[in-house]
Amino acid sequence: MHLANNKNIIDDKVHEECGIFGGYCQCGNIAPYIKCALLKLQHRGQESAGLCAGDKKQTLYKNPGLVSLALNDAEIKNISGNFGIGHVRYSTFGGDDKENIQPFKVFYMDEDVSLAHNGNIPQAHKIREKLKQQGEKFSGSSDSEIILKSLIFSLKKKPSEWSFDDVAQCLNSNFPHGAYCVILYTKERVMAFRDAFGYRPLMFARCKQGDFIASEDVGFFGLDIERVIEIAPGQGVEITCKGYEVKTFAKSEKISQCVFEQIYFASAASNIFSKSVYAARYELGKILAKCEDKDFSHDVAFPVPDSGLACAIGYCEALGVPFCHGLIRNVWMERSFIQPQQNKRNKNVRLKFIPVKSEIEGKKIVLIDDSLVRGTTSSEIVKMLKNAGAAEVHMRSVSPKIINNCLWGVDIPTKEELISYNKTDEQIAKQIGADSVKFLPLERLSDVFEGEMWCKKCFINTSADDFVNVRTPLGKEEIK
Ligand code: SF4
Repeated sequence: MHLANNKNIIDDKVHEECGIFGGYCQCGNIAPYIKCALLKLQHRGQESAGLCAGDKKQTLYKNPGLVSLALNDAEIKNISGNFGIGHVRYSTFGGDDKENIQPFKVFYMDEDVSLAHNGNIPQAHKIREKLKQQGEKFSGSSDSEIILKSLIFSLKKKPSEWSFDDVAQCLNSNFPHGAYCVILYTKERVMAFRDAFGYRPLMFARCKQGDFIASEDVGFFGLDIERVIEIAPGQGVEITCKGYEVKTFAKSEKISQCVFEQIYFASAASNIFSKSVYAARYELGKILAKCEDKDFSHDVAFPVPDSGLACAIGYCEALGVPFCHGLIRNVWMERSFIQPQQNKRNKNVRLKFIPVKSEIEGKKIVLIDDSLVRGTTSSEIVKMLKNAGAAEVHMRSVSPKIINNCLWGVDIPTKEELISYNKTDEQIAKQIGADSVKFLPLERLSDVFEGEMWCKKCFINTSADDFVNVRTPLGKEEIK
């Protein structure tokens, strides 16, 4: 999926798609563990990386760029402490200025407190303006800073005295329609919260080394894992040196897990929303194959790597046709959608994929991608394959047509910029230079993502009002 800079779609919201990690490590030097985890969550954001670690006192270290460059080994080795949080960032609204790199740390009432988050807070700017009027100062424009400052403003006591319930109540009342996973580090304690709609995944792991939280369980890989728990929508976890406690703080009228986490954002090695990402993509490929016309034939099928890989394997197995690697991804290039400027993206496509001529020349090819957004990447790739001698290129998308924006942190272009908006398959094929185009029919998405707990709104032509769900904070007596 190749998304675009979308700062002006709807004025009163911000957008982010990021990765978080944090927790408690017995070894007294959690910072290198955070770096390792962020490397495994790098696919969730490549503009900047940061960590904040320590015990009572916190050391903040963050820089622009990929984790390997942003977090220098020699420097993080010297950041001691059992507790910490980390973040990889993709910015849209907040901009990629250094002030917006997460985590955010504040010194308040003689204590350090830091926060990072993944998601989107609609109307965050209104809360920011309100806090500014009350005299609060902001160093950047990211919504993470708004969340942290609003906690400080609402709770008015030392961060070490903020209870889990205090923070949960504040998140519920200040950000009732937010799509977020928040990780907060106060004195010798890390807490994490997943909003009641559950748009973004949040995982917990008890390991031999300690207790950790991550956006995806792939972040725990390499640790000696004893137990993994998916933090449910409206749940959070509190981690101290004495152990952890998973608590429920809100119940949802409607759970809305983002299907694009499964289709594209998450690592294929992850298990999120109680599903293997790889298995879901494989199934989508199989279903897409079954939607082909009986008389459709081709010589070979291959994916746009990497997110299309499992889908292409499923597609080929279902049709009994050969699978090959016709496009090689240059692993040294960043994911194209992670770059927030369109000019960077176009250049990236040509540097990112290298055609394998022997698998392409003279062949009728099915090219399988996770989705088509603007179509700019697809047209570049189709052109690349035809230049390499392909006889025909048939584009297939394992997601249905994207025809709407996302209010929940995913940076999708305006409707008018979306290639599928108000266009037939034939018109789309013509625009990208392919011989044919097919999408997974929307109704078949439920074959893999069953039930009512999935958000599929970017495939449906809804108005902004339809996006608003109702959250019901639990009464105090209901908080476990
Ligand atoms: S609208 Fe689309 S991208 Fe946004 S949360 Fe829903 S499924 Fe995900």
